[in-house]
Amino acid sequence: MFRDRCPLLAAEVAPAAAGGELIAVSPVPRASEVAERAHRAGGVVEKVLQHEAQHLLDYATGAMSALRYLTRPRDWRYGYQLTAGCRWGDFGCEQRASIAEHLWLLEHGRQDLVRDSLGRDPAPIAAYRRLIPWAATRP
Ligand SMILES: [Zn+2]
Repeated sequence: MFRDRCPLLAAEVAPAAAGGELIAVSPVPRASEVAERAHRAGGVVEKVLQHEAQHLLDYATGAMSALRYLTRPRDWRYGYQLTAGCRWGDFGCEQRASIAEHLWLLEHGRQDLVRDSLGRDPAPIAAYRRLIPWAATRP
């Protein structure tokens, strides 16, 4: 369940989704809270921050909102498959955040962690850079 995968959103959204009770979801988390959750997630803080930064970007651009997140199960999926014709908009909120997180890991030589997460070898790093709009111009 996504509770274990997204330290920021899990604490805010999962209880509401599980219990059917709507709670407020802060669109801008406190930095200390993000860092604490990242720490508890296993010590690879930067990858978690990359994941959460994608959520913040999605909030800022309107690609994600609390209501949208709660009402679109598609946004709760983490697994993804990069194919030749796939586009950024084909992926849900958690998939986009996972893809951004995985690009960071690949750029930092942690293909092993991406493989563990996906359960298979990841696509070449160039495929991630082509897909993610903000990464397209990176070397
Ligand atoms: Zn997430």
